[in-house]
Amino acid sequence: MTPVPSNWPADYHSHTRLCKHASGEPRDYARAARQRGLPELATTDHGPTPLNYDPLHRMEMEQFPEYLGGVRAAQREEPGFVLLGIEADYFESCESFMADWLAAQPFDLVLGSIHYLSPPAPDRSEFKPLWNFGGIRGTWKRYFELVGKLADSGLYDIVGHLDMLKRNGSRLADKELRECALPALDRIAAAGMAIEINTSGLRHAVKEIYPSPLLLSWARERGIPIVFGSDAHQPDQVGSAFEQAVRLARESGYTDSLRFRGRVAARVPFDAASGAHGPC
Ligand SMILES: [Zn+2]
Ligand SMILES: [Zn+2]
Repeated sequence: MTPVPSNWPADYHSHTRLCKHASGEPRDYARAARQRGLPELATTDHGPTPLNYDPLHRMEMEQFPEYLGGVRAAQREEPGFVLLGIEADYFESCESFMADWLAAQPFDLVLGSIHYLSPPAPDRSEFKPLWNFGGIRGTWKRYFELVGKLADSGLYDIVGHLDMLKRNGSRLADKELRECALPALDRIAAAGMAIEINTSGLRHAVKEIYPSPLLLSWARERGIPIVFGSDAHQPDQVGSAFEQAVRLARESGYTDSLRFRGRVAARVPFDAASGAHGPC
């Protein structure tokens, strides 16, 4: 694992064995982040949902105390280094549950992610979440409508992997993407939310960071802040391809990213090249 330069952005997206499709404990991810020289790690495993919503890819509600214990253990080992986060799904009708449950937990940050366009069957064993919803255009339109609703809910801090719909390579022409995506980006900006630059797309068939350079430039135009995430499902993926992520951010005009404590954000400059503080 290659150490990175100083003043690197934090990794705000990592999982644990509790979601049933990742491995390792929070402390394993924290150790990997420390080894890489990252300034901070957020554990953001797939949070529990009511109504038996996709139980095969997330912790059970009764496992949440175990999750909390794992993060607290990592925090004791790496004081001031590990944040308690969660990747909470957004889906229609989730709002009342999420409003109560998220507010009751001592989270440092909450990623809001869309993994399905309609509720998955409870016994679904495959994780093919997003596509096949009335053709490519209909699917993207539906997806960004849900992103807009996620933003409007005001329940989350950061939109996770903004265009993960492209995961299998399905893409829209720029003009159609603009029509679908800009209203959602406007709602993200209005909600005061951040978006995540998520490098897991480089590990998927699409081989591209989420979001695309074009989407990120539109986010930048709207003043939407960013965080960085590897979406690590095993400890050796922590901080993966952050060099590319930082380059993408800088090319889009970003010079800082958000750091969170207790769901309150602060802007922190990143500088991949020199470790210097502040935009130049
Ligand atoms: Zn996952
Ligand atoms: Zn996700």
